[in-house]
Amino acid sequence: MAFDSLSEKLQNIFKNLRGKGRLSEADVKAALKEVKLALLEADVNFKVVKQFIKSVEERAIGQDVMSSLTPGQMVIKIVNEEMVSLMGSETTEIALKPGSEITVIMMAGLQGAGKTTTTAKLAGKFKAKGRKPLLVACDVYRPAAIEQLTINGNKQGVEVFSMGTNQKPVDIAKAAIAHAKNNDFNTVILDTAGRLHVDEDMMNELIDIKANVSVDQTILVVDSMTGQDAVNVASSFNEKVGIDGVILTKLDGDTRGGAALSIKAVTGKPILYVGMGEKLSDLEQFYPDRMASRILG
Ligand code: GDP
Repeated sequence: MAFDSLSEKLQNIFKNLRGKGRLSEADVKAALKEVKLALLEADVNFKVVKQFIKSVEERAIGQDVMSSLTPGQMVIKIVNEEMVSLMGSETTEIALKPGSEITVIMMAGLQGAGKTTTTAKLAGKFKAKGRKPLLVACDVYRPAAIEQLTINGNKQGVEVFSMGTNQKPVDIAKAAIAHAKNNDFNTVILDTAGRLHVDEDMMNELIDIKANVSVDQTILVVDSMTGQDAVNVASSFNEKVGIDGVILTKLDGDTRGGAALSIKAVTGKPILYVGMGEKLSDLEQFYPDRMASRILG
């Protein structure tokens, strides 16, 4: 289950804090030191942890908290609020143009992150909202990726536009948008090629698509199980290509939660959705407050 190991540690720390009744400054500092360790073990970015603990400490060590009847409870509340703020406070919706105007969404990510699966999951969400999505196979290097997108698109009842492996991704994107215009699709989702590592060719291909096609939203898919690597990938893509938001996959198998807690703070870009399983229905909108509650138990 998501965040199990982090949750367990934090719950133990909080149990001690609640049990104490009155709290001294030293009690709070000692508890926050343990919270800090738990977050670092959960692979939360070091700078993010430092800033987080500082913010909590500034609020928690004060007259109001210390003299309250339930100081432990108040410290826990502050940790909760700061955690929500760390993850961006509000839910970010993917901005879609109204009516028949076409919104072009470019999906990016490393191979294996879950990009193709997530692209089909997202198309299902849009369809359920009454949009008319068109999936576009721009990964011309792996015929298996095209096939996978086609199978998943069919499962979702969403058309998949493909031109095989002999065209340039940017030309496929252009042709897909023309097809969308002629056939009343209003949401075009480009499934681009992933590579095993962040490399220049991959970045250039995405930059090329962005330069020649009016991409409205660039969404990066990262694997939450890779912790800080996911955060570093998000930073690189944001610097080189520019992203609008992140979808964090495989949260169902992530016991630590370091990526979920760091991405917004490090990149400035919000988490939009989280993948919670392999099924095409396993995609959830990201709510910072619910996520904090899930982590804090
Ligand atoms: P791509 O190479 O980035 O396009 O990755 P795929 O979409 O092919 O996904 C790679 C593997 O991750 C597949 O086995 C997916 O079923 C799996 N996967 C994707 N998203 C999730 C998720 O949220 N949870 C779990 N448990 N598996 C996922």
